[in-house]
Amino acid sequence: MRNPFNKINDSKNSTTSEAAVDTPTRAGRTGRILGMSAVLSVGLMAVSTSTPAMAVESSTEQTQEKALDTTIERASQTVTIDASAVTASIERDSYSVGELAAAVPAVAAVEAPAPEPAPAPAPEWVLPVTGNISSPYGPRANKPVPGVGAFHYGIDLAGPSGTPIQAVASGTVVAAGVLGTYGNWVLIDHGNGVQTGYAHSSAIVVSVGQVVSAGETVALRGSTGASTGPHLHFEVRVNGDRIDPAPFMADRGVTLGQ
Ligand SMILES: [Zn+2]
Repeated sequence: MRNPFNKINDSKNSTTSEAAVDTPTRAGRTGRILGMSAVLSVGLMAVSTSTPAMAVESSTEQTQEKALDTTIERASQTVTIDASAVTASIERDSYSVGELAAAVPAVAAVEAPAPEPAPAPAPEWVLPVTGNISSPYGPRANKPVPGVGAFHYGIDLAGPSGTPIQAVASGTVVAAGVLGTYGNWVLIDHGNGVQTGYAHSSAIVVSVGQVVSAGETVALRGSTGASTGPHLHFEVRVNGDRIDPAPFMADRGVTLGQ
């Protein structure tokens, strides 16, 4: 980076050389233009006195430094002498800061309202229980136990006994008790002609008329009724017809058998 002082010096040297060349020429030709000569003389004087002028500037800087020192001294004197004034100043500052802090949220709220994170919506349909599909919906080649029909009107989800069985959607309990080969049986009405049933549980934890939400425990997996092992017999009824629960639940984002 070029030193600015060098630039200033170059400029002054250039001015000096031009004046040295021009002055004798113009003075020789037009001695009658006294005014111009006077101006040039003044210009030369200004150039010749440039060095003393810098000295003056230097002394001016020193004077300013002194003045600054004086100001600092005066300021420190003020702080030392007038303690009440300092206290008042601090109080004003703290008041100003408090006022600013209060104003910032208001301005931020107006200019850039913080986007509210959307709360995760509660799932409308959930898995009734984990477990492997031990028997799918449809015709069965062999009856697992006597008394069980040749056509399987639900899906069996096998797994440990006692595992909580959840309502797959919100609804109202319309049946809760022992029902023949179903053993402990819970039926939930979800409205719009849709009902879900839960059979063979070891225990029922809801009662008829109870309103449940999706994911709420309604029973515990067991092997009551016509059953050879702990599993949930899960049914879906639409307008009274027992349909295949797998595609019905898949359409609602739930994959049975996991
Ligand atoms: Zn079954």
